[in-house]
Amino acid sequence: MAMPLTTEQDQVLEELRQAHKLLLTTHENPDGDALGSLLAMHSTLEQLGKDSLMFMSPDEFPLPWEYREWTFDGLVGYPPEDVQERTVVFLDCGNIDRMPVDFLQEAGVHILNIDHHHDNTRFGTVNLVVPEASCTAEIVWHLARDLGAEITPPIADALYVGLVTDTGRFMYENTTAEAHRMACDLIESGVQPHEVYRRLYEDLPFRRLLLLQRALASVERLDGGLITVAHLTKADFDETGALETDSEGIVDHMRAVEGTSVAVLVRDLLAEDRAGKRKVSLRATDARIDVSRVARELGGGGHPQAAGFTTTLPYPQLVQELREQVGSQLR
Ligand code: 5GP
Ligand code: MN
Repeated sequence: MAMPLTTEQDQVLEELRQAHKLLLTTHENPDGDALGSLLAMHSTLEQLGKDSLMFMSPDEFPLPWEYREWTFDGLVGYPPEDVQERTVVFLDCGNIDRMPVDFLQEAGVHILNIDHHHDNTRFGTVNLVVPEASCTAEIVWHLARDLGAEITPPIADALYVGLVTDTGRFMYENTTAEAHRMACDLIESGVQPHEVYRRLYEDLPFRRLLLLQRALASVERLDGGLITVAHLTKADFDETGALETDSEGIVDHMRAVEGTSVAVLVRDLLAEDRAGKRKVSLRATDARIDVSRVARELGGGGHPQAAGFTTTLPYPQLVQELREQVGSQLR
């Protein structure tokens, strides 16, 4: 089964075929799907002879440890002078405020918005939003094939990382038959699943285990276990030597606990200009709860089962707010 053929998909394909100069970007704090989609789209466009650049803020570096082996040739950390001549392609970004740089939000920027978040604000000139897609990489996979590109081993690797990370290693609700068909195709294009698994989930820096230890020590169960929450403070990061990106995956430990409807990881942000701010990751395991609604109420967004936001609420008020939001959805 192919992705449903829509006008938006035709329009995006036509735009990509016609464009000579492009600038690809994604969301801040990029994850595997963001980075994988970016790299795969960039390699596809280069293969087709296009002048493609990728933009990410220099603040994103170092990238999460999982992606340490990827190199980003064609990456810029500043606005290219000719940005108004480039077709800008946003990948995996549900909301333009998740790429907080002025030059991409100016009038006249021609934007293709390619994403799978159901709450995408459709900020592009053309919007290809496919909520049924397991990951943005799945949309890119379809586009690359429709453009006649060969899925080379580096493209397959980038797409597979997006697929594995966004489906939680083929375990989340978005693990469809199409996701497995994509995996099959990518394996036939050279992906070695065990090698990718080792790169993403093993060979961990020890500081990650120390950070997990701190998170587990902080776990609280609220409202009879309905909400299982862990909190990582700035001191936890300082004392373990962990980086912000080392908290990836910790919330899955909270979600795995029996009786939990909503799993929460709260972590203090470390940058000086973000002092007093906290990043909150939400995961729902209860079909009655849509955590993207909770996140939107508090200035963020995401998927019904996985969402997030950044807040200045002090921790006790934040917890109270989450209890009220979850409670109101259950009533
Ligand atoms: P995570 O908790 O892993 O950072 O994010 C889980 C999901 O929530 C992802 O799909 C991500 O796109 C979304 N998300 C996380 N933080 C934010 C945010 O600040 N704003 C919005 N709109 N979505 C977010
Ligand atoms: Mn994604």
